Amino acid sequence: MASALSDKLSRLVKEMRGQARITEANVQDMLREVRMALLEADVALPVVRDFVARVKEKALGQEVVGSLNPGQALVGIVNRELVATMGEGVSDLNLAAQPPVVILMAGLQGSGKTTTTAKLARHLGEKRKKKVLTVSGDVYRPAAIEQLKTVTAQAGAEWFPSTPDQKPLDIARAALDHARRQYVDVLIVDTAGRLAVDEAMMREIRELHAALKPTETLFVVDAMQGQDAVNTAKAFKEALPLTGIVLTKMDGDSRGGAALSVRQVTGAPIKFAGVSEKIDGLEVFDAERHAGRILGMGDIVALVEQVQAGVDMQAAQKLAAKVKSGEGFDLNDFLMQIQQMKKMGGLSELMDKLPAQMQAKAGQVDMDKAERDIRRKEGIICSMTPLERRKPDLIKATRKRRIAAGAGVHVQEVNRLLNEFEQMQGMMKKMKGGGLMKMMKRMGS
Ligand code: GDP
Repeated sequence: MASALSDKLSRLVKEMRGQARITEANVQDMLREVRMALLEADVALPVVRDFVARVKEKALGQEVVGSLNPGQALVGIVNRELVATMGEGVSDLNLAAQPPVVILMAGLQGSGKTTTTAKLARHLGEKRKKKVLTVSGDVYRPAAIEQLKTVTAQAGAEWFPSTPDQKPLDIARAALDHARRQYVDVLIVDTAGRLAVDEAMMREIRELHAALKPTETLFVVDAMQGQDAVNTAKAFKEALPLTGIVLTKMDGDSRGGAALSVRQVTGAPIKFAGVSEKIDGLEVFDAERHAGRILGMGDIVALVEQVQAGVDMQAAQKLAAKVKSGEGFDLNDFLMQIQQMKKMGGLSELMDKLPAQMQAKAGQVDMDKAERDIRRKEGIICSMTPLERRKPDLIKATRKRRIAAGAGVHVQEVNRLLNEFEQMQGMMKKMKGGGLMKMMKRMGS
């Protein structure tokens, strides 16, 4: 699916070379592809319609800059709109209130509420140094309370006992009281879910909300739910003032279209993504990375980057200065280099600039394959978190697997890229920047 979209767009792009504007006539085919890609990513139909309409409105009549063609410009618009819809920047938990800050977990049964409660407890305990207490108000599923006890212990947090014969409201009040007396910073309240939305469940959680006055009311939703996520999200939004969303099971093979749907329907920011069953499988949600996942990472980024044609001398200078000053050459710099290569017109055009002798040698190389390689590399780096890019040493087996899954490649390819990066890093250290600007200038001319 991923490559299908960009391949199709590229083909359409070729057909419209020389057209300087995005017009009603040339945009239709491209919008159809975008629409298909979003539907395949499991974005709900009404959300897709709205989205495509917005993209069209932004695109129409837009002048196409420099050596761009309308197709490339449109990909840029789609990407920016995806990021804007899902929320730019990072949206953190609000912990500013007077402790104990209460976090209420809402969502269907099986969405991952209990697991996420423990993941959050760990996150808040380890990263934010908070004293966290969890409590389960799920008196309908006897195993639920025990499950929370077990995972809370794994999280290294405290757990407040409850029993199936109590009323959820009484449990919540008792837990809050205990939290106050024990100087707990954050109380996370796990609630009962049903298999489908029903009135009794909504009434109960509304009552809990009224009694607890939580600072955060997080709606937990399974990313694999696809189209259904919209209806669930609507029902919870109508029942509760949601302050954030946690998308779970993002490690599954869904394209994560639910993110777009749920965000649009609830208007609440997506705060976290669940990426494994394990206690540490929680990440702060990154809209930019997720936009790539929805439309097919490597390819879309590759196309978008072409939007800013020409070598970015400022970026090159910054890199040179960085290397010169002896600062670490990291994966962001590596990515920038790869992207610079592409901006310079791709490998084949670059080859034309080489002396004849070298061209003959290069002729034996499969250019298409080489170009594809570059895009895959970009995809891999774009699947890394900002921290991993800065500190590649952190990338061990589990992270490698996640990155490979995000970029749609085998783990071996991630290894290969990291090896290559290390070689480049070694070279950079030797060069200390001196030769780099010259090299870039020569290539760009
Ligand atoms: P609850 O009924 O909403 O409390 O859901 P649970 O927390 O019991 O989760 C239901 C199932 O989903 C369990 O098997 C969890 O291990 C699993 N699960 C939860 N979050 C994730 C996630 O981010 N990734 C994966 N792969 N599994 C998850």
